[in-house]
Amino acid sequence: RGGMKIEEVKSTTKTARIASHSHVKGLGLDDNGLAKQAAAGLVGQETAREACGVIVELIRSKKMAGRAVLLAGPPGTGKTAMALAIAQELGSKVPFCPMVGSEVYSTEIKKTEVLMENFRRAIGLRIKETKEVYEGEVTELTPCETENPMGGYGKTVSHVIIGLKTAKGTKQLKLDPSIYESLQKERVEVGDVIYIEANSGAVKRQGRCDTYATEFDLEAEEYVPLPKGDVHKKKEIIQDVTLHDLDVANARPQGGQDILSMMGQLMKPKKTEITGKKRILSSPCRLTVYPTVSELLPCLLIAVISLELLDLGTCILFGFLKSDVFSNLQRSSCLLQTLTASCMCVMAPRGTEDVASPHGIPLDLLDRVMIIRTVLYTPLEMKQIIKIRAQTEGISISEESLNLSGEIGTKTTLRYAVQLLTPAYLLAKINGKDCIEKEYVEEINELFYDAKSSAKILADQQEKYMK
Ligand code: ATP
Repeated sequence: RGGMKIEEVKSTTKTARIASHSHVKGLGLDDNGLAKQAAAGLVGQETAREACGVIVELIRSKKMAGRAVLLAGPPGTGKTAMALAIAQELGSKVPFCPMVGSEVYSTEIKKTEVLMENFRRAIGLRIKETKEVYEGEVTELTPCETENPMGGYGKTVSHVIIGLKTAKGTKQLKLDPSIYESLQKERVEVGDVIYIEANSGAVKRQGRCDTYATEFDLEAEEYVPLPKGDVHKKKEIIQDVTLHDLDVANARPQGGQDILSMMGQLMKPKKTEITGKKRILSSPCRLTVYPTVSELLPCLLIAVISLELLDLGTCILFGFLKSDVFSNLQRSSCLLQTLTASCMCVMAPRGTEDVASPHGIPLDLLDRVMIIRTVLYTPLEMKQIIKIRAQTEGISISEESLNLSGEIGTKTTLRYAVQLLTPAYLLAKINGKDCIEKEYVEEINELFYDAKSSAKILADQQEKYMK
């Protein structure tokens, strides 16, 4: 984002979920907002897709604040696919934050923290700062090593000496060792033009910012901020971040106190709990404390939550957090006239009758929710979707096998039918074929059980199992 890369440990659950939807490129609507039968990777489900189109418009026109969307329907009817299509339509500038129910259950972090963190990941800020910088050509780049201070083998870089040729002459800077890593990463060599921020001393190259340095005062034997007086140029730096990025930076303050310096400490984020104290408040008055935060961007939280995983308490909390974070922002949207915050919850139907709240959502939250329904697919639609998946996965499949898969999908679920593709293709390969024939689909279908049949077996033979 904004040219700066924030590395993060990605959860595999997330990637797996998105990978199975890699064929989805958008909602596939025409100029009038009507769904084409099959477009942008989506097939059928026209009413739901058109409703999602309306949501996209509401978010774009910043009218979604304080509202939520619930996609409800039988398993495998494209609820997640449609949520992702909405995110695709909104583009990469709108923070999109997928979240799965299992993430909420961590032994390290409280449930409230996980939810709060996800909300804050979904709130984007645009930061504009005019920085005074030294710009110059690198004339010397010498890493200086010392014995490993931990007593181990080898040597570590203790500092790096950079010669910088500016309009005012050549300056020799002795910089912090962390700089060396980032210079290496950026592949900075002698002859390159880089700039170093005055005061916070961030080293950048062609607009990219990686880490922060201070000048080493040779007489005082300590690192001091680069002096402001000797500044060469002013540069405007624009960066899009999320409230969570700022929280992480703020939780580990070192070096400069301005927002961009804090951002530089995001080199290796690890799981830390961000408590209220370290958190930058989202209330309008606190945001104005930072003159550099110039705009709140529209945002989208997609919470892909299986309600089976959430107890009712968490659901209530969900509602509470939603109103806490988002009502603040709503107020600021009145003040700033720029903000949209929207919260989208994609929730699998709970399917249990013993809970009083419909969809497992407390009524007060449900009251703010716009519900979009997805319906079961026809065999023809199933066939079309399976064909698209086969193409995406680079699998060739005969027309006959497609028809059969479509039928299997109707009797079981779409996901089961799609999942048969890879093993059936493997079987074809073993038999020296390059294309899935009907017999391979049949064989694989006999080997595995779909969710519906396995649940039926369990129900039929329940007296045989331990309770
Ligand atoms: P669950 O309730 O079990 O979580 P879901 O309703 O979220 O299911 P998805 O995961 O979106 O269902 O759909 C299952 C698979 O079928 C995914 O790979 C998805 O991309 C694909 N799919 C579903 N609907 C469509 C559609 N209309 N067009 C194209 N692909 C679809």
